[in-house]
Amino acid sequence: MDSYDLIIVGGGIGGSALATVAARAGRSVLVLERSEVFEDQVRGEWIAPWGVTEVRRLGLLDLLIGAGGRYLTRHVTYDEARDPAVAEAAALPLNIFAPDVPGPLCLGHPHHCQTLFDEAGRAGATMLRGVVVESLAVGAAPGVIFSVEGRRREARARLLIGADGRNSVVRDACGITLDADRPHHMFGGLLVEGVEGWDEDKQAIGTEGDFAFLVFPQGDGRIRVYGSYSLRDRGRFSGPDGARRFLDSFRARCSPANAHIADGRPAGPLRSYANNDTWTDTPYAAGAVLIGDAAGWNDPIIGLGLSITYRDVRLISNLLAGSEDWSEGLFAPYAEERRERMRRLRFVAKITSTLDAEFGDEARERRRAYFERSMGDPTLGLHAFAVLGGPESAPPETFTPAHRARVLGTESDA
Ligand SMILES: Cc1cc2nc3c(=O)[nH]c(=O)nc-3n(C[C@H](O)[C@H](O)[C@H](O)COP(=O)(O)OP(=O)(O)OC[C@H]3O[C@@H](n4cnc5c(N)ncnc54)[C@H](O)[C@@H]3O)c2cc1C
Repeated sequence: MDSYDLIIVGGGIGGSALATVAARAGRSVLVLERSEVFEDQVRGEWIAPWGVTEVRRLGLLDLLIGAGGRYLTRHVTYDEARDPAVAEAAALPLNIFAPDVPGPLCLGHPHHCQTLFDEAGRAGATMLRGVVVESLAVGAAPGVIFSVEGRRREARARLLIGADGRNSVVRDACGITLDADRPHHMFGGLLVEGVEGWDEDKQAIGTEGDFAFLVFPQGDGRIRVYGSYSLRDRGRFSGPDGARRFLDSFRARCSPANAHIADGRPAGPLRSYANNDTWTDTPYAAGAVLIGDAAGWNDPIIGLGLSITYRDVRLISNLLAGSEDWSEGLFAPYAEERRERMRRLRFVAKITSTLDAEFGDEARERRRAYFERSMGDPTLGLHAFAVLGGPESAPPETFTPAHRARVLGTESDA
């Protein structure tokens, strides 16, 4: 039976990033990845400025830039309650949120995973693909029984890492259940190619009618777009021409350049999710630690899962480097930091969902009033600052019912 310092289940973003850092630090690492090839599952391709700082602290930024990562430099919020010229005049520069970071970094998810997976192998980790995990042992003698290439194998480690995404089997083996709030809206995503005429340094969001759009260019006419719509319209984009209808939904008077996106071609699958937050106060057990989505995910409407995962990787790799005693207590500071981080980001996601992904007269008026009031009071936008600058970049009072009530104009109800 083979023996390692770490066995990491899941070789996506979190698993391969941690494997790289740990292997570079001299640890023996085995990564078990289920897929044979990383495919477009419609996951995150936008790393917030604070997430870029995390990537840099891990020593992985040059790798991602070398793999084609591109910075975006301007953000525009369009809305049916706003003239497009007014929205564009209020464009936000994106280089102000983290020191020496030009803006958010965009990189296609499958390519991002493969880049990290290869780097972990180069750093000395043993990387296996097409793996079926059959059973997991946590506790005093962590180990995995798995099959790969038709052979059944068994490996032991000092510690198991669950980096196996939303439906984590490591989480199940630890007996950890996630808390979850109720889904708020549907969220679909699609990669579009052949887009001509969109300013490729500009990201945009906006709401018009019964659809809210998010646009993140990747260069060379490729753009990752997402759209929010009502839970009641769950099946709105199903069927063979769903991707085409999804793209047509981007045509919006409030953002005339969206027509270029609608004229583009789908370059991957359209996937839709019922967006919510999940979390646990204790993302570890004896012999195992969870990172990334396995430890609970933030509502993708604010696009922070990659940044959260990179922060997890940094915290865990630092703890492992700083001690040879890898028993449960070592991970308490990680749990404590993650609990408050996820609480704050959950809070921001809820405000954002209410503002951007609710539709109809009342919602339109709420956004109009918010834009108007925030012109005179920039502190109203502090929750959005936390998305770009990180959950600790806004003062604690940002994450309170009083701030929410100020943003949504419901002070009298608070
Ligand atoms: C629609 C949508 C849009 C998003 N947009 C953004 C965004 O713009 N920015 C952002 O930061 N985040 C975004 N996210 C979130 C982000 O994609 C995730 O938080 C991030 O990918 C989590 O990384 P991870 O490594 O934990 O999990 P994953 O990326 O899901 O990787 C998990 C890996 O584990 C493997 N695996 C799973 N089960 C097993 C098993 N049993 N055995 C072996 N291997 C297994 C999988 O094959 C996969 O490779 C979005 C998410 C969604 C759903």
